[in-house]
Amino acid sequence: MDLSLTSEQQLMVDAAKKMVDRHIQPILAANDRDRPLPKAEILKILAKAADLGLTAARIPEEGGGAGLRMLDYGLMAEQIPPSVALILQPHEATSARIHFGCTPEQRERFLPDLVAGRKIACTASTEPDVGSDPRAVKTVATEDGDHLVLKGRKQWISNATVCDVMNVTCRMANPDGSTRLARILVDRGESSFEARELDMMGLRQAPLAEVLFDSCRVPRRNLCPDTGDTARLLTLTWLANRPLVGLMAVNLAQKALDAARSYAGVRKQFGRAIGSFQLIQQDLAEIETAVISSRLVCYNALAAIDRGERANGLSAMAKRYSVDCCDRAVALAMRIHGAMGLSRELGLEQIARDVRTISIPDGTPGILMLIQGRELTGIDPFRS
Ligand SMILES: Cc1cc2nc3c(=O)[nH]c(=O)nc-3n(C[C@H](O)[C@H](O)[C@H](O)COP(=O)(O)OP(=O)(O)OC[C@H]3O[C@@H](n4cnc5c(N)ncnc54)[C@H](O)[C@@H]3O)c2cc1C
Repeated sequence: MDLSLTSEQQLMVDAAKKMVDRHIQPILAANDRDRPLPKAEILKILAKAADLGLTAARIPEEGGGAGLRMLDYGLMAEQIPPSVALILQPHEATSARIHFGCTPEQRERFLPDLVAGRKIACTASTEPDVGSDPRAVKTVATEDGDHLVLKGRKQWISNATVCDVMNVTCRMANPDGSTRLARILVDRGESSFEARELDMMGLRQAPLAEVLFDSCRVPRRNLCPDTGDTARLLTLTWLANRPLVGLMAVNLAQKALDAARSYAGVRKQFGRAIGSFQLIQQDLAEIETAVISSRLVCYNALAAIDRGERANGLSAMAKRYSVDCCDRAVALAMRIHGAMGLSRELGLEQIARDVRTISIPDGTPGILMLIQGRELTGIDPFRS
């Protein structure tokens, strides 16, 4: 087993780093770090990401996407600053959901603009009363001629204020009076809804919002079919998202490690560089161990998905383990910096807030632990 990158993978990583340096960091630096990026700036970033296939990484080439292996996608995604990854990843995952779970007509209508980065997508599942149990959604769609009428509220939705297309999970009535889960593509050009910005602790340059559907009329042709490549859809979106989110934590912890390592070399106390003290060396060793083990556990889950293996437990473990480890690693890096670690100027406090924010989307630590436990025991801890 060779764990080094192939030359092709190295090229992908280098290309992603170059894009970040040339096109993403200048935009992040030029905008308020405590406010969501304006839509025009996000579209500039998506256009550049499209050049590398990152707006449609999971869509096969014959469907107009990049057809990347998940591990290769992860290697590139790891390079993207998480406040941008939290915009790009929901956009890309929604595009994949449209590719694998929609009709050819719907794909043709929505995908070209999303793949090119000319429009922005998102997925709305969570509601004020419904988080970890997405099957319990209450937003309802009722039929009215050739339209559906959407009523309900969604919460904590990435990209909702700036999106052009929202993939909404809701309930629809069956003829016998029962209800079923349904997905509807809400096109902002033809259907109106309110989106209210939410002010969060971290990743503040990524838009996050509450959404109100107040009898929002959506053409019936935007209802996604019941059938589709459901197994592929679930594997490539829910499962693969988790290690990708874990790699956001790795990106942040690597930055914290780089900062702590160089500070330990230049900061002097008691007439010596603090890096010469054994306790500081121990902290640095702990941080590096967290970064490398987190990275590997995420790569491992993505590679298992590429091999077509069942990766439910591995992907849950990857996100939970890496976010937990990286959170602690960032705290240690702050400690190495003393008071400077807490200063807004240095930016480590922002990294600490960002890494903490990553722990919630795509599964809380508790839920991910239970998913892994379910894989190990074969017993469902959620429903009897
Ligand atoms: C930055 C960010 C971006 C997001 N982006 C999106 C998005 O684009 N689209 C979207 O639909 N949603 C999004 N979300 C929402 C996210 O998916 C939910 O917040 C998450 O699923 C958890 O739901 P909740 O916050 O309602 O917590 P809850 O489900 O209410 O959980 C509260 C606590 O109870 C625990 N808990 C719940 N059930 C159990 C159980 N059975 N056993 C033990 N413990 C349990 C949880 O682990 C947690 O600690 C985002 C959230 C954040 C923070």
